Amino acid sequence: MHHFFAEPSGVEDGRIRIEGPDAEHISRVLRIKPGEEILVSDGQGRDYLCQVEELAKGCVRVRILQERQESGELPARIWLFQGLPKSDKMDLIVQKAVELGAFCIVPTATRNAVVKLDPKKGEAKSRRWQAIAKSAAEQSKRSRIPMVLEPMPLGEAFDLVKEKNFHLCLIPYEEEQGMGSLKEAMRQLAPGGDVGVFIGPEGGFDREEIREAISQGIRPVSLGRRILRTETAGLAVLSLLMMKFEGVF
Ligand code: SAH
Repeated sequence: MHHFFAEPSGVEDGRIRIEGPDAEHISRVLRIKPGEEILVSDGQGRDYLCQVEELAKGCVRVRILQERQESGELPARIWLFQGLPKSDKMDLIVQKAVELGAFCIVPTATRNAVVKLDPKKGEAKSRRWQAIAKSAAEQSKRSRIPMVLEPMPLGEAFDLVKEKNFHLCLIPYEEEQGMGSLKEAMRQLAPGGDVGVFIGPEGGFDREEIREAISQGIRPVSLGRRILRTETAGLAVLSLLMMKFEGVF
């Protein structure tokens, strides 16, 4: 079944208005007809099974048949703090992180990053990443559109997890030995809270950054005996967290 997002303000009296490019997509590209059923989410956690009533230029009106809560969401908010990678790797990371259930993606500037923060470009890039997040959320039938924040320095990211009182934060570090710390972290995961995952860029984290993270209560963990590329490391952790929250172990 096709899945779309609508503005929460478009939901009224048992009906939903879908406007803009999505409306065009529904009528012109997918050629959906009145009477067909689609899934509509308000991007803030509410899902509606709907029947298309009316297709007009730039606006599709649907009738709500059934409402569900957060059906496409994990029971915890997972934040991926991703060290800024080279070239357009972040596009892939955002898309996959959304599929795997991330709640928020924070491009993070670290000491060894090849890519440096440029505030002007940062804004344009996060708009692009936000658009990627939206289409990935539609494709994977999420109930929320994950946020992609503007790039922030690692120190600010540490402040953010402290302010928000995260339940658990992990920082994969290739010099960490053994799987004990990751196992222990998995045991302590519980539904309901915020979980942070810090991934270094191609150059990795430096020792000082790891020391700072530890002093903030963020736990260094190993991801096994192979070095993963930055785009693989985050996705490996997100897969693990997703399976844990889906109840596999
Ligand atoms: N510069 C490093 C590799 C960095 S890999 C080197 O070449 O040795 C990029 C990021 O992925 C790291 O900062 C870390 O967060 C994560 N990572 C990759 N492999 C890992 C592993 N085996 N254990 C823990 N973290 C890993």
